Amino acid sequence: MPPRNRQCLHCGMPMPAVALHMDNLPPVLPCRKCDHNVYQQHDGSCLTSDIAHNRETIDKALHKLDALLLEGWQGYYESIRLIVGGGLIREQILGQLHYYQKQHRLLSFKEDSPNRGAILVRLRAA
Ligand SMILES: [Zn+2]
Repeated sequence: MPPRNRQCLHCGMPMPAVALHMDNLPPVLPCRKCDHNVYQQHDGSCLTSDIAHNRETIDKALHKLDALLLEGWQGYYESIRLIVGGGLIREQILGQLHYYQKQHRLLSFKEDSPNRGAILVRLRAA
């Protein structure tokens, strides 16, 4: 269940959460009290998930990527760490991340070096 409330991390003001889907990323919700966009705030945490080692097809892995992006934006995460392995899923996910970055659904991404089987996706700016 998506959270029903969003709290401003700057001033503590609670607000009704925005219903998120892939077409309204990045979410925008100015705090009623201090005007910060509460969906750009984060608590420094990282959401980690393996999307390649449970016999996922490429379609399934791409679907999991979308679900993780939504979960990341719904939460207060700074970043998402995707375990993608070293095969075709990795190539497809990198392509999709490039596309999403151009649409600003994420901030940036890079290989979590020296581990090429993992990708670090930054949702929100420091
Ligand atoms: Zn506020």
